[in-house]
Amino acid sequence: MYFKFWGTRGSIPVPGSNTLKYGGNTPCIELRSNENELLIFDAGTGIRDLGKSLVDEKYNQKIRIFLSHYHWDHIQGLPFFQPLYQKNTEIIFLGESKHEKSIEDILSGQMNRHYFPMDLKDVASKISFENIESNKNYNIGNLEILTLSANHSSSTLAFKIIANNKSIVYMPDNELSPGNFSEDNIREIIKLENEEFINFCNETDFLIHDSFYDESALKLKKGWGHSDNNTLAYFSLFSKVKNLILFHYNPEYNDNKIEEIANYINNIFSIEKSKINCIAAFEGLRIQF
Ligand SMILES: [Zn+2]
Ligand SMILES: [Zn+2]
Repeated sequence: MYFKFWGTRGSIPVPGSNTLKYGGNTPCIELRSNENELLIFDAGTGIRDLGKSLVDEKYNQKIRIFLSHYHWDHIQGLPFFQPLYQKNTEIIFLGESKHEKSIEDILSGQMNRHYFPMDLKDVASKISFENIESNKNYNIGNLEILTLSANHSSSTLAFKIIANNKSIVYMPDNELSPGNFSEDNIREIIKLENEEFINFCNETDFLIHDSFYDESALKLKKGWGHSDNNTLAYFSLFSKVKNLILFHYNPEYNDNKIEEIANYINNIFSIEKSKINCIAAFEGLRIQF
Protein backbone atom coordinates (compact mmCIF):
# COMPACT_ATOMS: atom_id res chain seq x y z
CA MET A 1 0.00 0.00 0.00
CA TYR A 2 1.30 3.44 -0.82
CA PHE A 3 0.47 7.04 -1.57
CA LYS A 4 2.26 9.18 -4.10
CA PHE A 5 2.36 12.91 -4.81
CA TRP A 6 1.72 14.07 -8.39
CA GLY A 7 1.08 17.76 -7.61
CA THR A 8 1.98 19.72 -4.47
CA ARG A 9 1.38 23.39 -5.31
CA GLY A 10 -1.52 25.60 -4.27
CA SER A 11 -3.47 28.13 -6.35
CA ILE A 12 -1.80 27.95 -9.77
CA PRO A 13 0.83 25.84 -11.52
CA VAL A 14 4.31 27.35 -11.32
CA PRO A 15 6.66 25.62 -13.78
CA GLY A 16 10.24 26.85 -13.96
CA SER A 17 13.74 26.52 -12.65
CA ASN A 18 12.83 27.74 -9.14
CA THR A 19 10.35 24.96 -8.47
CA LEU A 20 12.14 21.90 -9.85
CA LYS A 21 12.70 20.21 -6.50
CA TYR A 22 9.21 20.40 -4.96
CA GLY A 23 7.27 20.77 -8.20
CA GLY A 24 4.95 23.25 -9.86
CA ASN A 25 1.81 21.14 -10.46
CA THR A 26 -1.36 21.71 -8.45
CA PRO A 27 -2.73 19.10 -5.98
CA CYS A 28 -3.09 15.45 -6.86
CA ILE A 29 -2.34 12.41 -4.72
CA GLU A 30 -2.61 8.75 -5.69
CA LEU A 31 -3.37 6.15 -3.03
CA ARG A 32 -3.25 2.39 -3.67
CA SER A 33 -4.58 -0.23 -1.33
CA ASN A 34 -3.09 -3.70 -0.87
CA GLU A 35 -5.82 -4.92 -3.24
CA ASN A 36 -4.58 -2.40 -5.82
CA GLU A 37 -7.70 -0.26 -5.47
CA LEU A 38 -7.01 3.28 -6.60
CA LEU A 39 -8.15 6.44 -4.86
CA ILE A 40 -7.14 9.82 -6.24
CA PHE A 41 -7.39 12.93 -4.10
CA ASP A 42 -7.92 16.13 -6.10
CA ALA A 43 -7.54 16.72 -9.80
CA GLY A 44 -5.04 19.56 -10.04
CA THR A 45 -2.58 19.61 -12.94
CA GLY A 46 -0.63 16.74 -11.35
CA ILE A 47 -3.40 14.38 -12.45
CA ARG A 48 -2.24 14.66 -16.08
CA ASP A 49 0.96 12.68 -15.48
CA LEU A 50 -0.85 10.26 -13.18
CA GLY A 51 -3.34 9.58 -16.01
CA LYS A 52 -0.53 8.79 -18.43
CA SER A 53 1.04 6.37 -15.98
CA LEU A 54 -2.31 4.60 -15.41
CA VAL A 55 -2.73 4.15 -19.17
CA ASP A 56 0.83 2.79 -19.46
CA GLU A 57 0.10 0.41 -16.58
CA LYS A 58 -3.18 -0.67 -18.24
CA TYR A 59 -4.90 -0.13 -14.89
CA ASN A 60 -8.33 -1.71 -15.26
CA GLN A 61 -10.14 -1.39 -11.93
CA LYS A 62 -12.55 1.38 -10.95
CA ILE A 63 -10.91 4.77 -10.50
CA ARG A 64 -12.29 6.91 -7.67
CA ILE A 65 -11.50 10.62 -7.64
CA PHE A 66 -12.24 12.41 -4.36
CA LEU A 67 -12.42 16.19 -4.66
CA SER A 68 -11.80 18.23 -1.51
CA HIS A 69 -13.49 21.26 -3.15
CA TYR A 70 -13.79 22.85 -6.56
CA HIS A 71 -11.34 25.76 -6.50
CA TRP A 72 -9.48 25.83 -9.82
CA ASP A 73 -6.26 24.36 -8.47
CA HIS A 74 -8.12 21.17 -7.44
CA ILE A 75 -9.94 20.48 -10.71
CA GLN A 76 -7.98 22.13 -13.52
CA GLY A 77 -6.11 18.96 -14.55
CA LEU A 78 -9.25 16.91 -15.05
CA PRO A 79 -9.83 17.51 -18.80
CA PHE A 80 -6.29 16.23 -19.41
CA PHE A 81 -6.71 12.97 -17.47
CA GLN A 82 -6.21 10.33 -20.18
CA PRO A 83 -8.33 7.53 -18.61
CA LEU A 84 -11.39 9.78 -19.17
CA TYR A 85 -11.05 9.07 -22.89
CA GLN A 86 -10.64 5.32 -22.61
CA LYS A 87 -13.47 2.89 -23.24
CA ASN A 88 -13.83 0.15 -20.61
CA THR A 89 -12.63 2.51 -17.91
CA GLU A 90 -14.92 3.33 -15.01
CA ILE A 91 -14.40 6.57 -13.09
CA ILE A 92 -16.36 7.68 -10.03
CA PHE A 93 -16.16 11.30 -8.86
CA LEU A 94 -16.88 11.96 -5.20
CA GLY A 95 -17.37 15.40 -3.66
CA GLU A 96 -19.79 17.68 -1.86
CA SER A 97 -22.79 19.31 -3.47
CA LYS A 98 -22.75 23.08 -3.09
CA HIS A 99 -25.44 25.71 -3.21
CA GLU A 100 -27.89 23.09 -4.49
CA LYS A 101 -25.50 22.08 -7.26
CA SER A 102 -24.39 18.46 -7.36
CA ILE A 103 -20.81 17.41 -8.05
CA GLU A 104 -22.03 16.41 -11.55
CA ASP A 105 -23.42 19.92 -12.18
CA ILE A 106 -20.22 21.56 -10.97
CA LEU A 107 -17.79 19.38 -12.95
CA SER A 108 -19.93 19.49 -16.10
CA GLY A 109 -20.00 23.28 -15.79
CA GLN A 110 -16.22 23.35 -15.81
CA MET A 111 -15.76 20.98 -18.73
CA ASN A 112 -17.97 22.12 -21.56
CA ARG A 113 -17.39 23.60 -24.98
CA HIS A 114 -16.95 27.16 -23.70
CA TYR A 115 -13.73 26.09 -22.03
CA PHE A 116 -12.65 22.86 -23.71
CA PRO A 117 -13.26 21.05 -27.03
CA MET A 118 -15.49 18.43 -25.39
CA ASP A 119 -18.31 18.18 -22.85
CA LEU A 120 -17.69 15.97 -19.82
CA LYS A 121 -20.75 13.85 -20.65
CA ASP A 122 -19.27 12.90 -24.05
CA VAL A 123 -16.08 11.23 -22.81
CA ALA A 124 -15.51 7.57 -23.73
CA SER A 125 -15.13 6.23 -20.20
CA LYS A 126 -18.05 5.32 -17.98
CA ILE A 127 -18.32 8.13 -15.45
CA SER A 128 -20.55 8.49 -12.41
CA PHE A 129 -20.87 10.89 -9.49
CA GLU A 130 -21.42 10.51 -5.76
CA ASN A 131 -22.29 13.38 -3.48
CA ILE A 132 -20.46 12.94 -0.20
CA GLU A 133 -20.70 14.93 3.03
CA SER A 134 -18.75 16.04 6.04
CA ASN A 135 -18.70 13.93 9.24
CA LYS A 136 -19.36 10.65 7.46
CA ASN A 137 -17.60 7.29 7.07
CA TYR A 138 -17.21 5.61 3.70
CA ASN A 139 -15.84 2.12 3.06
CA ILE A 140 -14.06 1.08 -0.09
CA GLY A 141 -12.71 -2.47 0.10
CA ASN A 142 -10.50 -2.56 3.17
CA LEU A 143 -10.18 1.22 3.28
CA GLU A 144 -12.18 3.38 5.63
CA ILE A 145 -12.55 7.04 4.75
CA LEU A 146 -13.71 9.67 7.23
CA THR A 147 -14.65 13.21 6.23
CA LEU A 148 -14.60 16.53 8.06
CA SER A 149 -15.21 20.14 6.99
CA ALA A 150 -11.99 22.13 6.81
CA ASN A 151 -11.73 25.85 7.53
CA HIS A 152 -11.43 27.37 4.07
CA SER A 153 -12.93 30.14 1.98
CA SER A 154 -15.22 27.67 0.21
CA SER A 155 -16.67 24.62 1.98
CA THR A 156 -13.94 22.00 1.77
CA LEU A 157 -13.56 18.41 2.90
CA ALA A 158 -10.62 16.94 4.75
CA PHE A 159 -10.18 13.16 4.49
CA LYS A 160 -8.82 10.55 6.87
CA ILE A 161 -7.97 7.22 5.25
CA ILE A 162 -7.55 4.23 7.55
CA ALA A 163 -6.03 0.93 6.43
CA ASN A 164 -3.47 -1.61 7.67
CA ASN A 165 -3.84 -0.11 11.17
CA LYS A 166 -2.39 3.13 9.82
CA SER A 167 -4.01 6.43 8.96
CA ILE A 168 -3.37 9.33 6.64
CA VAL A 169 -5.08 12.71 6.95
CA TYR A 170 -5.34 14.82 3.81
CA MET A 171 -6.11 18.49 4.59
CA PRO A 172 -4.98 20.41 1.53
CA ASP A 173 -6.67 23.77 2.18
CA ASN A 174 -7.20 24.56 5.84
CA GLU A 175 -6.68 27.63 8.02
CA LEU A 176 -5.69 26.73 11.56
CA SER A 177 -6.52 29.24 14.29
CA PRO A 178 -5.50 31.74 15.45
CA GLY A 179 -2.59 32.31 13.05
CA ASN A 180 -1.37 35.19 15.19
CA PHE A 181 1.66 34.29 17.19
CA SER A 182 1.96 37.50 19.15
CA GLU A 183 -0.99 36.62 21.40
CA ASP A 184 -0.33 35.47 24.96
CA ASN A 185 -1.11 31.86 25.92
CA ILE A 186 -0.73 30.91 22.29
CA ARG A 187 -0.47 27.17 23.00
CA GLU A 188 -3.76 27.12 24.90
CA ILE A 189 -5.43 29.15 22.17
CA ILE A 190 -4.23 26.76 19.43
CA LYS A 191 -5.48 23.78 21.44
CA LEU A 192 -8.82 25.36 22.18
CA GLU A 193 -9.59 26.81 18.75
CA ASN A 194 -8.62 23.69 16.77
CA GLU A 195 -10.11 21.05 19.02
CA GLU A 196 -12.16 19.37 16.28
CA PHE A 197 -9.17 19.17 13.92
CA ILE A 198 -6.88 17.93 16.71
CA ASN A 199 -9.32 15.10 17.42
CA PHE A 200 -9.56 14.25 13.72
CA CYS A 201 -5.76 14.16 13.32
CA ASN A 202 -5.05 12.53 16.68
CA GLU A 203 -2.01 10.21 16.44
CA THR A 204 -2.32 9.91 12.69
CA ASP A 205 0.68 8.37 10.95
CA PHE A 206 0.79 10.93 8.14
CA LEU A 207 -0.71 14.41 8.21
CA ILE A 208 -0.64 16.02 4.77
CA HIS A 209 -1.45 19.65 5.49
CA ASP A 210 -1.74 23.09 3.92
CA SER A 211 1.50 24.98 4.54
CA PHE A 212 0.87 28.01 2.37
CA TYR A 213 2.33 30.81 4.52
CA ASP A 214 5.19 31.70 6.76
CA GLU A 215 4.42 33.84 9.81
CA SER A 216 4.88 37.19 8.07
CA ALA A 217 2.80 36.32 4.99
CA LEU A 218 -0.08 35.10 7.13
CA LYS A 219 -0.43 38.48 8.85
CA LEU A 220 -1.59 39.97 5.53
CA LYS A 221 -3.81 37.03 4.54
CA LYS A 222 -5.69 36.06 7.67
CA GLY A 223 -9.08 34.58 6.78
CA TRP A 224 -7.99 33.48 3.29
CA GLY A 225 -8.23 29.82 4.30
CA HIS A 226 -4.58 28.74 4.60
CA SER A 227 -2.14 28.00 7.42
CA ASP A 228 1.22 29.30 8.62
CA ASN A 229 4.33 27.43 9.73
CA ASN A 230 4.15 28.25 13.48
CA THR A 231 0.52 27.30 14.01
CA LEU A 232 0.94 24.15 11.92
CA ALA A 233 3.98 23.06 13.97
CA TYR A 234 2.19 23.43 17.32
CA PHE A 235 -1.01 21.95 15.92
CA SER A 236 0.98 18.85 14.87
CA LEU A 237 2.50 18.58 18.34
CA PHE A 238 -0.91 18.75 20.03
CA SER A 239 -2.34 16.24 17.52
CA LYS A 240 0.60 13.87 18.25
CA VAL A 241 0.99 13.11 14.55
CA LYS A 242 3.88 10.84 13.60
CA ASN A 243 4.81 12.48 10.30
CA LEU A 244 3.92 15.95 9.08
CA ILE A 245 4.00 16.33 5.30
CA LEU A 246 3.95 19.92 4.07
CA PHE A 247 1.70 20.47 1.06
CA HIS A 248 -0.19 23.05 -1.02
CA TYR A 249 2.68 25.52 -1.28
CA ASN A 250 2.36 29.20 -1.98
CA PRO A 251 3.04 29.75 -5.72
CA GLU A 252 5.33 32.64 -4.74
CA TYR A 253 7.66 30.28 -2.84
CA ASN A 254 10.69 28.79 -4.57
CA ASP A 255 12.43 25.54 -3.58
CA ASN A 256 14.73 27.31 -1.08
CA LYS A 257 11.81 28.95 0.70
CA ILE A 258 9.96 25.62 1.05
CA GLU A 259 13.10 24.02 2.45
CA GLU A 260 13.39 26.94 4.89
CA ILE A 261 9.81 26.35 6.13
CA ALA A 262 10.45 22.60 6.63
CA ASN A 263 13.68 23.36 8.54
CA TYR A 264 11.90 25.96 10.66
CA ILE A 265 9.20 23.47 11.68
CA ASN A 266 11.72 20.69 12.34
CA ASN A 267 13.61 23.12 14.56
CA ILE A 268 10.45 23.74 16.63
CA PHE A 269 10.00 19.94 16.94
CA SER A 270 13.56 19.48 18.17
CA ILE A 271 13.25 22.35 20.70
CA GLU A 272 10.06 20.68 21.94
CA LYS A 273 11.88 17.31 22.06
CA SER A 274 9.29 15.84 19.72
CA LYS A 275 9.95 12.87 17.41
CA ILE A 276 7.61 14.19 14.69
CA ASN A 277 9.26 14.01 11.32
CA CYS A 278 8.45 16.98 9.06
CA ILE A 279 9.06 16.59 5.34
CA ALA A 280 8.10 18.78 2.42
CA ALA A 281 6.12 16.85 -0.23
CA PHE A 282 7.60 16.85 -3.72
CA GLU A 283 6.30 15.51 -7.02
CA GLY A 284 7.17 11.83 -7.21
CA LEU A 285 7.39 11.30 -3.43
CA ARG A 286 5.99 7.84 -2.77
CA ILE A 287 5.41 6.56 0.75
CA GLN A 288 4.85 2.87 1.33
CA PHE A 289 3.13 1.79 4.51
ZN1 LIG B 1 -6.11 24.90 -3.12
ZN1 LIG C 1 -9.11 26.26 -2.06
